[in-house]
Amino acid sequence: MKNYPVPLKYIKGVGEKRELLLKKLGITSLYELVHFYPRTYLDFSSLTDIVSIVPDTVCAFSAVVGYDPIEHKIRKGMTLYKTIATDGIAGVHITIFNSKYLADSLKQGQEYIFYGKVTAQNGSLEMANPIVEAAESDCGMRPVYPLTAGLTSKILSKIMANALTVYFEQNIPAPVPDSVRTRYNLAHEQFALRTVHSPKNAGDLAVAKRSLIFEELLTLQTGMRRLKSHSRGKASLKIQDDFSGEFISSLPFTLTKAQERVISECIRDMQSDRPMNRLVQGDVGSGKTVVAAALIFTAAKNGMQSALMAPTEILARQHYETLTKLTEGSEIGIELLTGSVTAKNKREIKERLKSGASQLVVGTHALLTDDTEFQRLGLIVTDEQHRFGVNQRGTLSSKGSNPHTLVMSATPIPRTLSLIIYGDLDISIIDELPKGRQKISTYAVDTSYRKRIYAFIKKHLDTGLQAYIVCPAVEESENGVASAVQYAEELSKKEFADYKVGLLHGKMKGKDKEAVMSDFASGEIQLLVSTTVIEVGVDVPNAAVMVIENAESFGLSQLHQLRGRVGRGIAKSYCVLISDNMSEGVKSRLDIMCRTNDGFAIADKDLELRGPGDFFGERQHGLPELKIASLTENMDIVRETAEASEAILKDDPMLKKEENLGLRLAVRRLFYDKNKHISLN
Ligand code: ADP
Ligand code: MG
Repeated sequence: MKNYPVPLKYIKGVGEKRELLLKKLGITSLYELVHFYPRTYLDFSSLTDIVSIVPDTVCAFSAVVGYDPIEHKIRKGMTLYKTIATDGIAGVHITIFNSKYLADSLKQGQEYIFYGKVTAQNGSLEMANPIVEAAESDCGMRPVYPLTAGLTSKILSKIMANALTVYFEQNIPAPVPDSVRTRYNLAHEQFALRTVHSPKNAGDLAVAKRSLIFEELLTLQTGMRRLKSHSRGKASLKIQDDFSGEFISSLPFTLTKAQERVISECIRDMQSDRPMNRLVQGDVGSGKTVVAAALIFTAAKNGMQSALMAPTEILARQHYETLTKLTEGSEIGIELLTGSVTAKNKREIKERLKSGASQLVVGTHALLTDDTEFQRLGLIVTDEQHRFGVNQRGTLSSKGSNPHTLVMSATPIPRTLSLIIYGDLDISIIDELPKGRQKISTYAVDTSYRKRIYAFIKKHLDTGLQAYIVCPAVEESENGVASAVQYAEELSKKEFADYKVGLLHGKMKGKDKEAVMSDFASGEIQLLVSTTVIEVGVDVPNAAVMVIENAESFGLSQLHQLRGRVGRGIAKSYCVLISDNMSEGVKSRLDIMCRTNDGFAIADKDLELRGPGDFFGERQHGLPELKIASLTENMDIVRETAEASEAILKDDPMLKKEENLGLRLAVRRLFYDKNKHISLN
C-alpha cells in the first residue's frame, strides 16, 4: 500500500456511498473500521438436537422443512407464514411474521439451519422469525454490529474481511509489546482482530476479546501515566521552609499518623522542582480539611497565595470558618467568594487577591471567572473533586503559573479505578480515622418503625445531641417521595413540637442556607430536616443520629456520604435507613450499609452495581471512550495492565524503544487525536 492513510472508499466493498454510511457510525479511518467491534454474536457454531432444546433459550438447530410455509392472513397488514422443521425425531413450529421473502425461501424437504429463541407453546416448541441459513453453510459465530440504515451486519462482515487484509498489509506495529504478550498469555493482534470479527467458536472469541481488552486498557493506562509526566512543567513557586510542624502543634487535637504522613508527602512535593499534583483520598470524617489547612498555612508563610474550591456554598462557608479558626493569630488574610457575595464585595475581594493583600480565597466555582486574578497563586485545593470536571480543575490552575494542586476526594474511589482516572495525579490515602471514633451503627427498617424512630431521636435530643432527617425531594412530589418542606412543617407542629426543627434544601437562598447551617452548628437547631445538600462535607460533630427517608432512592456512595455526617464527635452515632421498597437491589444496597462502615468497600460495591459512568456522574472523569473494555467487568485486566504499564514505563519512560513503538502510536491515537479537549494540567 502506498497511500497512507488508506481512504475507506478504496477498501473492497466500501465505495463512496458506503463510506458515508460508515461515517454515520463514527468510522472515518481504516483503523477505526477494524476496531469497530460487534455488539454481539449469533452462535451457529454449535447445533442443538431438537429433543435437547431448552425452551426460552436462543439456539441453532439443523432441520428439514416439512411443507412449504402456509400463509395465514390474520388481519389487514398482518400475515403469518407457518411450517414445521424436523430432524426426524422431533419438530419445531416455525412462524414467520409478514416476511413473504423469507417464507418463500423455505422449501419442503430441504435442510436449513434455524437460529433464534425457542418457546414452548401448548406443549410444542415454536420459533418465531428465525434467522435461516442454508444447511451446508459454515457460519461459525456470526457478528452482529451496531447498525445504521443501509448497512447490514452481513455487509459489514464482508467489508471487515477486506479491511483487515489491507490493515495488516500496512504492518502497523501492534500496541502490546511482544514480551508483554507472552508474559500475559495474549493472542497475536492479527488473530485477535480477525477472530473478534469472525470467531470460529466461543473459546477463540474469549481469547481474542481478552487480548483486545488488555490492549485497550494497557493503552489507556499508559496514556494516563504519560499524561502525568507531561503535565509537569517547573514549579514556579517552591516552599523554602516547612512550617507545617508549627501549624500542627497549634491544633487542639493530635493528628493521626495517616494525616501526618499525607501532610509530609505534600510538603515534599511542594519543595521539589515539579508542582505538586496530588489526590488525597480519605473516608468521610478522616480529617482531610486539616491536611489542606496545614499546606495552606505553610504556603502562606512562604509568601504564596492559595485557593480552596468547594462544590457548594454551604461547604465553602464551612471551610472558610474552619480555616479562619485554625489559622487564628497567624495574620493570614482569608476571603470567602461565592455566588451570593454582593457585587461590591466581590470587587473588593478580587482586588485584595490581585494585590496580594489576602493569602487565601475559599469559594465555589465562582472562583473560576476570568476576573479572579492572583498576585502569587501557589497552591490550589479542590475539595470533593469528583464533582468538578477535569477541565474545571485546569481553569483554576491556569490562574497561577504551574501552581501546586491538591485534590481532596470524599467519595473513596476503588483503587483500581483511581489508578486509571487519576493516572495524572499522585495519590495519598488517609486510611485511619481520628482516635475515639466509633462505628456508626446502621439499621434498615420499613415505615412501620417510624414512631419508634422518632422516640429514638428524641432520646438523643434530650441529652443535648442533634439529629438529621434526610428526604430525597424538596417539594411534594407525585410518587410519594418524602418532601423536606412538608415534612419539616409537619414534624415541627406535631411530633417535634417541643423541639427546635430546622429546614435546609438546595432551593433556598444562599443567605438563608447559611443562617440555618450556622444555627444547626451552634446547636440552636436540634433536628435538621434536609435534602442531600448536606451530603458532602458538612461537619457538625454534635450530631449523632442520621435518619434517611426513602433510602431506596439513593446510591451506595451517597448513603455513605450522608451517613458520614454523624459519627464525627465522641458520642455513639446511629444511622437509620427507612424504606418500604424491598426489591432485591434495594435490599442488597441497604444490607451493605448495615454491614460495613468502610468507604472503600462500599465504593467497590457501588461501582460494581452502577458502573463507572454513574459513579462519577456525566462523563466527568475525562476518560477517552472505551471500545471493548469495561472498567467494572474487567477489573482483573485493569490490574494486570496497571502492572504491565508501570513496568514498561519504568524501563522506557518516553516509549522510545523499538518494541514499544506500537504502544506509543496507540496512546497517541487514543488521547491526542480524538481527545484534544482533555486538559493536560
Ligand atoms: P473529612 O475528611 O470528611 O473532610 P473533616 O476534615 O471535616 O473530615 O474532619 C472531620 C472532623 O474531625 C472535624 O470536626 C475535624 O476537626 C476533626 N478532626 C480532624 N482530624 C482530627 C484528629 N486528628 N483528631 C480529632 N479530630 C479530628
Ligand atoms: Mg470534607
